[in-house]
Amino acid sequence: MVWTRRVILKSPQEIAIMREAGRINALALDAVRKAIRPGVTTAELDAIAEEVIRSHGAKPAFKGYPGPYPYPATITVSINDELVHGIPSPKRVLKEGDIVSVDCGTVYQGFIADSAFSMGVGEISPLAQKLLRVTEEALYKGIEKLRPGNRIGDVSWAIQQHVESNGFYVTREYTGHGVGRSMHEFPMVPNYGRPGQGLEIQPGLTVALEPMVLVGTPRTKVKPDGWTVVSADGSLTAHFEHTVAVTPAGPVILTQL
Ligand code: MG
Ligand code: MG
Repeated sequence: MVWTRRVILKSPQEIAIMREAGRINALALDAVRKAIRPGVTTAELDAIAEEVIRSHGAKPAFKGYPGPYPYPATITVSINDELVHGIPSPKRVLKEGDIVSVDCGTVYQGFIADSAFSMGVGEISPLAQKLLRVTEEALYKGIEKLRPGNRIGDVSWAIQQHVESNGFYVTREYTGHGVGRSMHEFPMVPNYGRPGQGLEIQPGLTVALEPMVLVGTPRTKVKPDGWTVVSADGSLTAHFEHTVAVTPAGPVILTQL
């Protein structure tokens, strides 16, 4: 991945643009959420997201992102054991009982918003329900710690502690990140850490927090397509993400309607 090497604090004007990027991104994810049902293909979901983003004068942020080969789509759709970076395909059909994670990025006036959610397709198992609930709760536990004077380790620890106390695992191999004109800015925001450690959080910091949670072990591997990350043991996974701005008064979620 391509990362900046220092923190780039944003002005209130820049945060306002990121808020608009985040609102458009939320509209795209909302349209995808409403289209998720048994029988829909992940390529159809991708087309829905791209249409919403472009119709608002914005662009998909993931398309062309450097990797094993340029990322080919607007969203990533990761099903069951797939943790992140699943590539949409007309051959991938959602079925009853799946859990699906959708990640989307939007560029608007040069600034990026990045957000993800996971949900069940129709009826899902009690274990899958708990996984979704705990992962989303972990995101909000982390957001709550994004306050001036705290450190990144406080955020990371809040996420890790909630996930592990519920018997699940966080990945060590993929992290949250600063976000702005670049998709991945300093600092990394791991989903594990120690309270009081790491960068001090200041007003103007904009980060994407993204708990990536696994049922069986913390280990992952990459599928032969070069992009899709799956749990090493085939167990279920979930992913929630918001782009958040730190203000003097505390965290503001940019990627909601
Ligand atoms: Mg994302
Ligand atoms: Mg991200």
